[in-house]
Amino acid sequence: MNGTKVLVSGASIAGPTLAHWLARRGTEVTVVEQAPALRDGGHGVDFRGAQMELLDRMGITDEVRARETGMGTQTIVDAAGRPVVEMPSVFFSGEVEIARGDLARILHDGTRDDVEYVFGDAVTALSDTGDAVDVEFRRSPARRFDLVVGADGMHSGVRALAFGPESRFATFNGYYSAGFRAPNHLGLDHAGLLYNEPGRAVMVSSGRDRSVLDVGLVFKADRLDHDRHDTAQVREVVATHFAGVGWETQRLLESLRDDATDLYFDPLEQINLERWSSGRVALLGDAAWCAGPGGSGTGLAMMGAYVLAAELDAAGGDHTTAFARYQDVLAKAAAKGRWQAKGAGEFLAPPTDRKIRRRNRTYKVLSSRPMEGLFRRIVGGAANAVTLDAYPRTDDPAPSTGRPSRRA
Ligand SMILES: Cc1cc2nc3c(=O)[nH]c(=O)nc-3n(C[C@H](O)[C@H](O)[C@H](O)COP(=O)(O)OP(=O)(O)OC[C@H]3O[C@@H](n4cnc5c(N)ncnc54)[C@H](O)[C@@H]3O)c2cc1C
Repeated sequence: MNGTKVLVSGASIAGPTLAHWLARRGTEVTVVEQAPALRDGGHGVDFRGAQMELLDRMGITDEVRARETGMGTQTIVDAAGRPVVEMPSVFFSGEVEIARGDLARILHDGTRDDVEYVFGDAVTALSDTGDAVDVEFRRSPARRFDLVVGADGMHSGVRALAFGPESRFATFNGYYSAGFRAPNHLGLDHAGLLYNEPGRAVMVSSGRDRSVLDVGLVFKADRLDHDRHDTAQVREVVATHFAGVGWETQRLLESLRDDATDLYFDPLEQINLERWSSGRVALLGDAAWCAGPGGSGTGLAMMGAYVLAAELDAAGGDHTTAFARYQDVLAKAAAKGRWQAKGAGEFLAPPTDRKIRRRNRTYKVLSSRPMEGLFRRIVGGAANAVTLDAYPRTDDPAPSTGRPSRRA
């Protein structure tokens, strides 16, 4: 891999993890990110089972632990705030949970000396000549790379350019999810609450920063016609769908209008492509196999990055073989993740009162002591579907030194 030039699109989770493992093998890596800077905050993402080994191999277990949310029990409450079911933290928060933005920062900071980061820019054209890929950018001058990897999430720009429009690969699950941060007026401390009305879920939790509530709203809806980049429109859509919903919802909506930060809004959508590569261009993480909440997306994106880098190395520059091996190794786990997350909308926001009661009964049983083993197997399925056993630790290269970040 020495001297190979790889362009990675996306500086969230999958992109910087791939950059970490490629740079260690002497690859010249450039990461281009459309956001003007690293995006902080975001929902909690968790690691479990075989994925813990990867954090260890990257040498970031302690840093992740130092910033873990430490989330405890998540309680389903009724309109008066009375507990209905308590779910153990392992269900939502795995063995260790960290805010997506905190993890992105750890990954970026650990690679920025060896990797060229270009923020505030994006790929606008790709031309695979057979020997290389000519790339045009929104702001930077055109450049040539040996390989291009789209690690740019559910709405991947690389995928649109090299594989076709999102509509060809996306399955909408009939639900939308919004996330934002608000003042912790409930005084929650390392705990979370979930309130439901039919087709609506209101989730709040507070972890490391006790002054802040992480708010997650999930609602059932047909495809909406809105501009997801227009914050005012998104606020309006959310407020309309939660108008009249009880418990603390209206107070939370007030802070969505007034002082919420980091508003996130997307459909619960899954991405499914037959092939994750085309010529010298490959996809990774949510860009290739997005499952949505409950699909172990973060851990799988990182495992995928590790496997892709290791296979490129093992194939000695034969990217066709490496891309095929990478997909073989990951495909089953990605499919399991999608299967696991398929019902996430309906689990979080059951569409009728009857279904809410049935969900609550099921989780009461599953989270009881005798069922603990089964419960762990269900929620750990995708996380354990791919391991690093085929890649001996001794093959992992040592860290290198070197190259600065810049803005476009
Ligand atoms: C509500 C919700 C809850 C979730 N909860 C969990 C959880 O508990 N546990 C878990 O493991 N996973 C969870 N996930 C999934 C997890 O967030 C993703 O699977 C994970 O972040 C995937 O990482 P990624 O790097 O592939 O993509 P992303 O994190 O989506 O990052 C893509 C990056 O690419 C950038 N980008 C986008 N387009 C372009 C472009 N054209 N050019 C350049 N850059 C671009 C974006 O700005 C972003 O930085 C959840 C997802 C959602 C929606």
